[in-house]
Parts: sequence; structure tokens; C-alpha cells
Amino acid sequence: MNNISIAVQGGAGEDSEFIKSHQSGYKKGLEDAVNTGYKILKGGGSALDAVENAVRSLEDNPLFNSGRGSALNNKGEVEMDASIMDGKKNNAGAVSMVRNVKNPVTLARFIMENTSHVFLSGAGALEIAKEEDLALEGDSYFITEHQVEEFIKDRKQDDYNAILKKRIHGTVGAVALDKAGNLAAATSTGGTPNCLDGRIGDSCVIGAGCYANNSSCAVSGTGDGELLIINVIAYSIAFYMELKNCSLQDACDYVIHQRNMDVEGDIGVIAVDTRGNLGVCFNSERMHRAWKNNEEKITVKIYK
Ligand code: ASP
Repeated sequence: MNNISIAVQGGAGEDSEFIKSHQSGYKKGLEDAVNTGYKILKGGGSALDAVENAVRSLEDNPLFNSGRGSALNNKGEVEMDASIMDGKKNNAGAVSMVRNVKNPVTLARFIMENTSHVFLSGAGALEIAKEEDLALEGDSYFITEHQVEEFIKDRKQDDYNAILKKRIHGTVGAVALDKAGNLAAATSTGGTPNCLDGRIGDSCVIGAGCYANNSSCAVSGTGDGELLIINVIAYSIAFYMELKNCSLQDACDYVIHQRNMDVEGDIGVIAVDTRGNLGVCFNSERMHRAWKNNEEKITVKIYK
């Protein structure tokens, strides 16, 4: 059998009491997402199907900041970003500031495969979801007690800049290699808590929080979205690997620990190459992550 491989991430950043006390729930969510994607790959399914479905399972899990469980912006509202990229066709789809769409990653895939556009936002993206009968939910579906607590806790501070610099955020993502040798990546998030409304992070920005190309690797990013955008993290890893002909892990380590060593904030990535090798790298206290290669046992980790 050709190599198959899948990795998922559930966000990088600072540790918190909530994360500490919900470790088993997080691990179970990551494991379920890997198993969902792996089953598809093992059955001969595509890397695209694997990453979409792995991310959907995390979007549906209220512990993770994406879909249900998304962070609230400074108006107490949920606006979600997501993207997906097909490494074989070099095609991508992305959505930003979407509301009420149960699985933003599926909407991103629909845009990639059925429109001539790559990136739609807000009302226009929602309209397509409605026309195509994608699953929608009322506002309350997305809002969890934990995110309401985060929202209220933050707002007790006077210094709004300090709120914006807080490093407890979250995202979900997946990267996969299928039996046919094709790569795909997908990333989805509710963004950063208490951000200004209208803020768009890296998760929906192709080249920043998501990238896949069969000539190198597939990458899903997490951390301070502004930094991943400015430093074009996902594309840099793929380009560096191709240019230097180095291993995927070396490319991830170079981009995060050397090229961006002075960056003040969190950056984390999961990645896979066309041989099924994985790259995992982060500069933060923790990154929720899990992976599985061929018949190897699943690995699930939160801390270093
Ligand atoms: N990168 C996401 C964003 O900035 C948040 C995260 O990954 O934790 O929207």
C-alpha cells in the first residue's frame, strides 16, 4: 500500500486552567478527528475528503474554537473563517466572517469546487450556503458556556489592547496524504476572543494558515493569525522545502524557529509531505495535535 497519513491540530497558544482540566476531552476530540480522516484514506478516499471530514468533526465538537464552540468577538457574536486546499489541482476555497453555517470548511470546499472564486466572505458566503442547502444553525448553537465566560472575563479588564494580545485562542485543522499520492489541507476557526468585529485571521488566508501543493507538502497553521498572515507561514514552509530540498520537519523548524524566531506571538503548524512524513512545530506552550501514519498507532499530544 502507498503511504497514507493524516494529522490534525486543535490550536496553539498559552496553557489555561480550562485546557488543563479538559485534557481528556480534547484528546478524545483529536483522536476522533484523526480516525474519521484515516478511515477515509484507508478506504481509498481522497485527501480532500479526509481533511474536510476531520475538520468537520472538530467543528462539531464544542471544546474546540471553530464551528460550535467558536470564540465571541467584541460584540459577543460568532464570525468564522475556514479554508481548504487541494494539492493536486492547486485549487483552494475560503470563507471569512461567516455566521450560522454549521461547517464552514464544507462551504469553503463548495466554493473551491463549484465557483470560479477562491474566497467569499460574510453575507455572500452565507447566501451560497443557503442556496446549496448546507446545514445552518441558529446563533445559540455556536455559543458555548466556556466562550461566554472567556468573553466576560476579558471584558473586566480596562486595557483593551491587553485583551487583544491575549494568547488563548484556538483553531482546528487537518493535513493528509491519500493513496493516490495527493495532498490536502484544511483549517477552520472562530478567531480570537474579543477581537474587533470584522477581524479576519490567517485560517482562511491561503498561504498563511493553509496551503497544499503536491510538489512539496500540505500545511495547516494556528496561533496569532496576524503573525501567520504577515509572515506567510504555510507557503514559506512549502517553498523552503522545495527550494532547499530538505525534510519537511527541517522546513517547519526553519520557518518557525529561525526565520521567525523574533516574532512575538504564537505560531504552530502541522504538515505532511508526499511520502507521508509529518512535520509538527510550534513555539507556544502547547499545541493540540494528533496524527496517524499507515498502520502506526495514533499519537495524540497537547504539550511539548
Ligand atoms: N489563527 C487563529 C486566528 O488568528 C487563531 C488560532 O489559531 O488560535 O484566527
